[in-house]
Amino acid sequence: MFTGAGISAESGIPTFRDANGLWEGYRFEEVASPEGFRKHPELVLEFYNMRRAAIMQAQPNAAHQYLAALAQQFPVSIITQNIDDLHERSGSQNVLHLHGEIMQMKPVGSETLLPTLHPIKLGDVDDKGRQWRPHVVWFGEAVPMYEPALHIAQTADIFIVIGTSLNVYPAAQLVYEVPAHCQIIVIDKSQPYIDPSLNVTYITKSATEGVLDLPLYLSDWI
Ligand code: NAD
Repeated sequence: MFTGAGISAESGIPTFRDANGLWEGYRFEEVASPEGFRKHPELVLEFYNMRRAAIMQAQPNAAHQYLAALAQQFPVSIITQNIDDLHERSGSQNVLHLHGEIMQMKPVGSETLLPTLHPIKLGDVDDKGRQWRPHVVWFGEAVPMYEPALHIAQTADIFIVIGTSLNVYPAAQLVYEVPAHCQIIVIDKSQPYIDPSLNVTYITKSATEGVLDLPLYLSDWI
């Protein structure tokens, strides 16, 4: 499984691109880049504090729950681009967060993670005096979980893609890394572009409606 912001849209968490390339009214560069953080640290911290608070209020939807239930029947690995924890809260076990997790924080310049449910304020520092920041992979930063995600993609029998525009790299490259025999099933309200030479089936529905069609395609497996 490979999920993006669209799977959490029906939980009330807005996607990135549904609002004309803005994320909750902010330009990506302002709130999702190291440069943006250097220029406006307080604004960026507050932006993610608001995202964390909204995510804590949100509940997993039927699509998250469907994927968790599917894992009762056969091995499921979820690669998500989402920073929310709705897969985990719906009961999924094997969840790899490619772009970080809002419920964790790390000091600037370090990958030492600490859980946080609280807002991070400017001036909140670790014992070495380093400002805490959310554990979110910003544009231009390395994607440390890409290698394990690549392994999952390269060993998949079915690759189910839900609610991602496939615009963010290297994440979007994963669909091109699956084995030749692997079927790719895309559930999305729109049809994100994938090279038509690949074995792709589109279910052009919302995430919660689209997962209900999956048994048609998974009958050999479940
Ligand atoms: P995106 O915003 O670029 O694309 C969202 C996709 O979801 C679109 O293709 C859209 O058609 C589809 N979509 C919207 N509503 C849907 C629904 N109800 N059902 C099915 N599909 C729906 O998102 P992306 O490709 O995940 O990339 C954006 C980046 O933004 C990610 O890296 C992620 O880290 C970050 N982000 C995360 C969250 C979150 O954690 N929930 C929310 C917003 C952005």
